[in-house]
Amino acid sequence: MDDLYREYILDRYKHPRNAGELDPFDVKYADNNPLCGDDISMTLRVEDGTVVDAKFKGRGCAISQASADILTDNIKGKTVEELRRLGSEQVIEDLGVDVSPARRKCALLGLKVLQGGLFGLQAWPDQPSSQNVNDGR
Ligand code: ZN
Repeated sequence: MDDLYREYILDRYKHPRNAGELDPFDVKYADNNPLCGDDISMTLRVEDGTVVDAKFKGRGCAISQASADILTDNIKGKTVEELRRLGSEQVIEDLGVDVSPARRKCALLGLKVLQGGLFGLQAWPDQPSSQNVNDGR
C-alpha cells in the first residue's frame, strides 16, 4: 500500500468527518462484516429523493471505517436513483488504495449498509451482477 494513501486512510479512520448519528433521520441501517469484526450503522436524511445528509457510527479496522467515512461524504447531494447505480468498483476507487481480496468486504461494508438501508438489498455489493456495466475503465 502506498504510504500517502495509507496516511489518508489512517487520517479518515482517526478523524472521521461524518461520525455520529443524525436525529431526526429518514433511513437507519446497520450491518457487519463477521470476517473482520467490522460494524457500521448509518443514518441518512432524504428529501425529495436526494440524500441531504449522512452520518455513520462504527468500529472495526481502518479500511472499513475510512471507507464508510468517504462514502458518507460522497453520497451527500446524490439522488437515491444515482446511488442505486453506485457500484463496488467506484467505492474501492474512492478509497484510493489497492484493497486485497481479503479486505474487500471491509472496504465495501459501508456500501452494503447503504444498499440495505435504501433498497433493502442484503447481498454483498461484490456479488457479480449484470448491473456492473460501468467499471470505470
Ligand atoms: Zn475490516
